[in-house]
Amino acid sequence: MAKLLRFLKPYRVYLGLIFILACCQAMAEVYLPTLMSEIVNKGILKKDVHYILEIGEYMILVALFNAVVIALTSYISAKVTVGYGSSLRKAVFAKVRSFSLSELDRMGTASLVNRTTNDITQFQQIFTAMLRMIIVPMILIGSILMAVSKNAKLSLIFLAVLPILGLCTVVIGKNSMRFFKTMQDKLDRLNMIVRENLKGVRVIRAFHQMEGQTEKLHAAGKDLTVISIKANLTIALVMPLMMLIMNVATLAALWYGGLFTGSGSMQIGDLMAYVQYMMQIIICIVFVSMMFSAMPRAKASAERIQEVLAISPDIMDKRQRRNDEHGAGSIEFRNVSFSYPGAERPAIRNVSFRAEPGKTVAIIGGTGSGKSTLINLIPRFYDVQEGSILLDGTDIKEMPLQILRARLGVVPQENVLFRGTVADNISVGNRAASREEIRKAAEKAQAHEFILSMEGGYDAEITQGGTNLSGGQKQRLAIARALVRRPDIYILDDSFSALDFTTDLHLRTALKNETLAATVIVVAQRVSTVIDADIILVMDQGCIVGMGTHTELLNTCVTYKEIVSSQLPGEESA
Ligand code: ADP
Ligand code: MG
Repeated sequence: MAKLLRFLKPYRVYLGLIFILACCQAMAEVYLPTLMSEIVNKGILKKDVHYILEIGEYMILVALFNAVVIALTSYISAKVTVGYGSSLRKAVFAKVRSFSLSELDRMGTASLVNRTTNDITQFQQIFTAMLRMIIVPMILIGSILMAVSKNAKLSLIFLAVLPILGLCTVVIGKNSMRFFKTMQDKLDRLNMIVRENLKGVRVIRAFHQMEGQTEKLHAAGKDLTVISIKANLTIALVMPLMMLIMNVATLAALWYGGLFTGSGSMQIGDLMAYVQYMMQIIICIVFVSMMFSAMPRAKASAERIQEVLAISPDIMDKRQRRNDEHGAGSIEFRNVSFSYPGAERPAIRNVSFRAEPGKTVAIIGGTGSGKSTLINLIPRFYDVQEGSILLDGTDIKEMPLQILRARLGVVPQENVLFRGTVADNISVGNRAASREEIRKAAEKAQAHEFILSMEGGYDAEITQGGTNLSGGQKQRLAIARALVRRPDIYILDDSFSALDFTTDLHLRTALKNETLAATVIVVAQRVSTVIDADIILVMDQGCIVGMGTHTELLNTCVTYKEIVSSQLPGEESA
């Protein structure tokens, strides 16, 4: 938890102010009962109206002063806690953005969302409470001193009350600590299930899994409910228990105090002040005990936040060495091997090849053979473990990420579109692109026609995730997005899979003209897509098992021959 407090640095001045204000408030609150006892003893009992008015005025002034101090404290505390929460959130979010895909995989999206929202809010709330707590020890000490000075013998009551209070605090605190930690984990699980349900709503409906999912959700909800009720019951016990103790203590004070006043050894005003001090003391202790029961919650959340902040991204951006000279954009893999974190066998094994400007490298192979993995290594979504990838002769690990990625036009296998217009989505590739450039890119990507048929054309709205488009339409928009960037290197991951053969053919012809000078790396399922490539890489289980042109491979590579004969009837293509 202490580690998160470093974000408080900019608020030092405010914290100082809060401390000073708390001192003022504590003094006022400890002083007021004494003033009251003065009024009772010297004014009311002696029927001295003048004295009552004089001290009364004074009391009003002190109370007003106290009110102003409290208002100021609230204002400044709000400023500090909101600012602090937002710095925390910013820090966590910035950290998450720097994560590589393997770190994102490890933490899980649902948990990361929870950590940036719920956990920070949780921590922030308790931090707010802690700020208010600054005053508690001051009032506590002040009130004890005053109470003892009013009547030391009567203060023996505390000797009986304090151990009971302490015991209750410890027992309740311990139990709630356990419950709240479990509660946070159950909440994570509930969120995960809700997310999964919303994301997978089509599959769930198509396979009629609503009931099963609902049951799962109910079970998770019930889990959370049971534990929340337990936790809150424990917390709810605090108040009545403390009230009971407080009232019994007051009763005792009045009883024995009554005896003292009867015998004349204590004045009535002092007894009244004494009871007030006693209440203040017990309320302070209640606050402290509530603080203790809230601590574990804050600690659980703080740990979850700190876990995110403590990860040092394994893809470090090299800012120091700038590589501004623009080569033509050749990519070379040198003995590259890569395994996903926790995987038993490498997804890519000892891969070497070159992709030259103006040439097309096609990658073909069964599903799960590592094609997407291979391609994801180029933009450094993941870093290679062995060997190196060179762009124009420079290891990509030595280049600033921004410069590396600016030279790539990537069309991923799973196309993501964002909420916004069609034009917005295409210009993600190049924010500076004009309307004309966007239209040209869309034309080349064979998207122009269907865009025009949409209501609003280029200004048609796309829903979140592009659910109002077909798979092939999404693919074409994603291709347009890469084209409008005019990169040196095109990386297309299975980007034609959802297109019909005619559109596929048109698109490939258009792309060819567009990418004449560029390096093109294309993953494909269909032999017809790779047939014209300058080099074809055949992948199997993470290895390259064949490399060459279509005709060469037909004679040398068994795997390739199998793929071809499964797709093209006869061997007429040879
Ligand atoms: P392809 O694109 O050729 O179909 P992939 O490159 O997507 O194949 O996957 C290659 C292998 O790596 C598969 O065995 C798959 O299970 C594994 N894999 C893919 N993505 C991940 C990931 N994010 N974490 C762990 N393993 C993965
Ligand atoms: Mg793939």
